[in-house]
Amino acid sequence: MRIDLKRILLWVVAALGVILLAAQVAANSSVVTALSGKPQPTVEATPIVAQNATFHLGVTSNSTATTETDGALIGTIEDTNLGRAQAELLAEGAKFNLIILSNQSIGLEGEIYKDLIKRNIRSTTGPDEGFDTSSLDCYPTCIFVPIGVLNELSVESWTYVLRHEERHTIQAGNNPNLARDFRPTMDGPFTTYAAFEEAYADDGIYVGENIYHASERMPKLKMVLGASNMATYERACQGDQTAYQDIVNIYNSKAGGKGAFETLFPPYK
Ligand SMILES: [Zn+2]
Repeated sequence: MRIDLKRILLWVVAALGVILLAAQVAANSSVVTALSGKPQPTVEATPIVAQNATFHLGVTSNSTATTETDGALIGTIEDTNLGRAQAELLAEGAKFNLIILSNQSIGLEGEIYKDLIKRNIRSTTGPDEGFDTSSLDCYPTCIFVPIGVLNELSVESWTYVLRHEERHTIQAGNNPNLARDFRPTMDGPFTTYAAFEEAYADDGIYVGENIYHASERMPKLKMVLGASNMATYERACQGDQTAYQDIVNIYNSKAGGKGAFETLFPPYK
């Protein structure tokens, strides 16, 4: 009887041991399944668009681009063509802030994203498309790019586009009403002022020649204005409204009267 009890006790202890071991193996194997079946998210593997509505790429003191949202480093665009073009221009001393937009962008940035996609535009500074961006920290040096096009252009082509946009940031800095002066109503056409400022932004760059016709219009304008008006012309190119009105009046008086300037720089959709 005593021997039997001892045996039963041994069996119970042994059985308990097996159960514990089995439980441990089961627990371990479920961890293994979780790790191997579904990779844990890392900074690199996390989809940019899903987690972050908008990239703000600040120009830091050492001229490198960082991508952050609310101060948290979440990725980089340095290995994209846009990022390489940005690095080139920053090294030359250009000053602008890239903001990468996506379909997750909200508020003003979401509105700009929708407009860029609808009108098939690769980049904007905001005011040059009629958006008042003065509420943003980067104003007036913001340049917005939809996330889908970062590698759509070559590095060289991006440098041209960014140079064009950088000229708009300077225009915006010299005219706080640039957005309204470019496009008074969001569904209306762009103005003659916009056509002129765009032609200047594109002069010698020609990323929008089919719309802005800089190669035809700017030489004609300069020829009619003449050397004595070049200082006023330069100020007008930088966005200055008073200088702009001056060159409109000078051009009209020299080139066939009221409406001549508007004929050279017609409003456009
Ligand atoms: Zn432009």
